Amino acid sequence: MQGQLSGRPTGVLSKNTTRTVGKDALAMNSAAGQAVGMVVRTTLGPQGMDKLLVDSSGNVLVTNDGVTMLQEMDIEHPAADLVVDVARTQEAEVGDGTTSAVVITGSLLEAAESLLDDDIHPTAVVGGYRRARQLAAGAIDELAESVDPTDRNILEAVAATSLTGKSAEQQRDLLARIVVDAVTDATDAYGNVDRDLIRLRTFYGQSMAESEYREGVTLGKRPPHPMMPEDVPDATVLVFEGAIELSELELDVEARVSDADTAGAFAEHDREELASLVDPIIEMGVDVVVAGEGIDDWAQGRFADAGVLAFRRVDEADRKRIARATDATRIADLDILEAKHLGFADRVARERIRPTRYAGAARPERVFSFDGGAGGGVGTIWLRGGTDQVVDEVERGIEDAIDVVSRTLSDGAILPGGGAIEMELAQRIRSAAAGVDGREQLAVEAFADALEVIPRTLAQTAGHNQIDALVELAARHDEGQRSAGLDADSGHAVDVIEAGVIEPKSVKATALTAAVDAATTILRIDDVVAAGDLAVGDESADETDEF
Ligand code: ADP
Ligand code: MG
Repeated sequence: MQGQLSGRPTGVLSKNTTRTVGKDALAMNSAAGQAVGMVVRTTLGPQGMDKLLVDSSGNVLVTNDGVTMLQEMDIEHPAADLVVDVARTQEAEVGDGTTSAVVITGSLLEAAESLLDDDIHPTAVVGGYRRARQLAAGAIDELAESVDPTDRNILEAVAATSLTGKSAEQQRDLLARIVVDAVTDATDAYGNVDRDLIRLRTFYGQSMAESEYREGVTLGKRPPHPMMPEDVPDATVLVFEGAIELSELELDVEARVSDADTAGAFAEHDREELASLVDPIIEMGVDVVVAGEGIDDWAQGRFADAGVLAFRRVDEADRKRIARATDATRIADLDILEAKHLGFADRVARERIRPTRYAGAARPERVFSFDGGAGGGVGTIWLRGGTDQVVDEVERGIEDAIDVVSRTLSDGAILPGGGAIEMELAQRIRSAAAGVDGREQLAVEAFADALEVIPRTLAQTAGHNQIDALVELAARHDEGQRSAGLDADSGHAVDVIEAGVIEPKSVKATALTAAVDAATTILRIDDVVAAGDLAVGDESADETDEF
């Protein structure tokens, strides 16, 4: 069957179509998948290197983040793309561990290759890998340690582990504290983290050490009217979802009026209608209006005359944050407005967020801060750094750290990092392999070997002898030290939980699931039909307009 199909296509496919079948297809796809793993491997861990990516128009991006790297590279091979999807899945589900997931996928494919060379059928390999994944999932559940959600030390260690090896590392402890502050504030009584409540503002031109977490909300908006106040103490705050404008229907009618007298009458009528929206707000003692949609020019003037500060077209996340911070209730209909819906802040004021000598920079220089809100529990991360390249990369690191701390709270469980969990899983799976029948047993063993790629790579990127490091780690795990992992500085085994190298359970669990899915998908393909060349690499122009 294979011989018949390879070579000349049967006439159904056009001349430009290339077709690769059977072992050739498998070898080609596996090679492409392994290549993706190799590309990101050197960036893994605390001593991992960064990658500098240049796009077709010469823009430069420096990153250590697995998913960012792979997304920005121009990868065309369909099998390689399956591996890139592993990084995307990992990023979307848990936010960190993208490099590990891709490296494990590559390693699983590499291990499969030797089994296939020994004439073990891909189906047996796939079966063995799935079996091993089940064993791994069971072991992960058993090994995970539950966390006390109020234990700041653990949460900060999780954040710090995630920030290690990134540009953020220079200020790792400070940033870890900031992240834990932000996530804790955004967590409700049931332990659910509302990611919308966490806002990150980035400013470049100052030292990263000046980054901070500030309670309250900052709004990067200017008031629409120049005569509105810019410093409002003891502010009563209205958060309104809609527009303070005439309804569209009436604007339509107005547009069709030609005769001047009638137009005058309409204008009078319009003002009355607007006043009926604005005046009750003013009379109720509102000092600051936060509106989700537009505010009519005349209404702006009326607010300004009354000394009311107003913001229009404030996005959903900011409205939610302001409402939460000031203890306001967001209302969608002004007819039902009552005093109990209003919030309160000690002060709403314009603030300069960096010296003007950095003028010309792309991000806002001034913001309005809502401080001392009656609701509390909302803050803003102010992330500063030397250049926008640095700030952007640190921002990616902080986003990941926010994700892992949130995950730790929702999972309620952690695992040791530094290759400890992978080594422990490898050993447990290897001993369970004895109970697996037939050729699948070999695949289960190969899976265990493949997991060791993580400690091995961590040793390698840190410049240590891989074999020595693995032997020492294996010995510790043999003795029952489950959390023995690699100390990247010395290359020796340490208790990584004590050393504070800690990750949420789901980062590891999801990485394994995604890696096995991608590897087994690739191993099951025995026919590739392509209407053109298949390549991994950067040949054609990239279409992304970011950067
Ligand atoms: P990923 O994209 O997979 O998160 P990273 O480059 O962040 O890739 O590396 C993560 C790996 O580095 C994990 O295995 C983690 O446990 C390990 N790691 C992080 N900090 C340390 C440390 N201080 N010592 C040893 N290993 C560490
Ligand atoms: Mg990481």
